[in-house]
Amino acid sequence: MNARKTWPSRAVLDWLEHLLAERYGHAFSLQDSGGASVRLSLPGSPAAIEIDTDATTFARADSNLPHASWAASREGWHSVLGKPLPAPGGSRLRWPLIETTPGGYRIHYDLLGLAYWMLTRQEEVDRSDLDVHQRFPGTASHAFRHGYLERPVVDEWLHVLGQVIQRLWPHLPLRQHRFAIRVSHDVDRPSRYGFCSTRAILRVMAGDLLKRRYLRSAWLAPWVRLNSRLMLHPADLDNTFDWLMDTSERHGLTSAFYFICGRTDARRDADYEPEHPAIRELLRRIHARGHEIGLHPSYATYQRPQAIAAEAARLRRVCAEEGIVQDAWGGRMHYLRWENPTTLRAWEQAGMSYDSTLGYADRPGFRCGTCFEYPAFDPVAGRPLKLRIRPLIAMEETILEPLYMGLGRGEEALRKFAELRERCQAVSGCFTLLWHNSMFDTQAERTLYQQILQGAAPCVPPARAATVRLSRA
Ligand SMILES: [Zn+2]
Repeated sequence: MNARKTWPSRAVLDWLEHLLAERYGHAFSLQDSGGASVRLSLPGSPAAIEIDTDATTFARADSNLPHASWAASREGWHSVLGKPLPAPGGSRLRWPLIETTPGGYRIHYDLLGLAYWMLTRQEEVDRSDLDVHQRFPGTASHAFRHGYLERPVVDEWLHVLGQVIQRLWPHLPLRQHRFAIRVSHDVDRPSRYGFCSTRAILRVMAGDLLKRRYLRSAWLAPWVRLNSRLMLHPADLDNTFDWLMDTSERHGLTSAFYFICGRTDARRDADYEPEHPAIRELLRRIHARGHEIGLHPSYATYQRPQAIAAEAARLRRVCAEEGIVQDAWGGRMHYLRWENPTTLRAWEQAGMSYDSTLGYADRPGFRCGTCFEYPAFDPVAGRPLKLRIRPLIAMEETILEPLYMGLGRGEEALRKFAELRERCQAVSGCFTLLWHNSMFDTQAERTLYQQILQGAAPCVPPARAATVRLSRA
């Protein structure tokens, strides 16, 4: 089935209603007004906002949509970032874009279609322009090509819609969100020397000694390896778990650690097993300190739902054996490998609560156009999924490493993180940051990480967001 037939199907409108309820705290109704627009209304009120629909544009699975921008202030509206709003899919926008009508307002831009297109990643369905890891690259996206990848474009438009709602129903208090930070750590390598083969340890030691000049670490490697049988060694460079938890706790945050529980690619997957006594001890420690454990499906699983389900079951089993109970299980794909909608469906089938894969490896920013967590939707089957998406805004490697942006460990990198964080803050969203436990070799990396977290606040748990739906009944 293709999305053109589903837009705006009742399933899409229901999903959008859910989205608006989470955002504004009210159960708005969305009705198809006969193909050209969608009518947004509030039960018990005769007023309505008509929003133009553009099914042809937002059903497209390519990145060649037209693009325009809209100067909100010229029409007396406020742009939350103080800049003209990007209007993907728009070619010649009408002026005024937002008009008063006898019954309320009319918006001549399909901002709901935009939300659908960005949030479901309709743009990425069946794409073949992929990178060496078969990932859809940020640089191929419409957002990057038109310079708005670092803008939460859906949140910006929902902020405008919020203003229209408030003008139409001035006594309706809209939900106020609070900016928050969420930190997560993909555990690709929990120990530098503890689990690798004899050949591998010689290679790592040589690299540490000659290339990276970590003399003490290399010298201690055999000792560390011998003493990692029951617990990760304190002198192991990658054993940053206590430091990460200390740092999160100082900022009132909860760290999420995502573990690899399978091996589908010998070269790219981890060298540890979740059943290893030192990993079991680590899992117990993370849980005892109130932090989160999650899944990091191995390299070749992104198109194999059964493999993801098996790895999820393995993590749950090991955790159960250690007496670890969590209400929800989430995580992120290794290498951010993700195919739409295969990987999403796989996460749902594996009984996971959320996926936090959706950021690009090659560029930071707003792959989904939002920094808010939201319910997933399958754009190919045209149905909602029992899964939430927690968009990833920045992975440390994307900004730091020469392979991607290469901004180093200093001021330039900090500015980029700060800019992204400020944009999340401007829309009162959530800045989701991925920093691997094995990326703290130097003091500069630790300092940078701490600077990014200054003034952090924890994200609202999804359970609270879910109450909106219940209040509708
Ligand atoms: Zn990984």
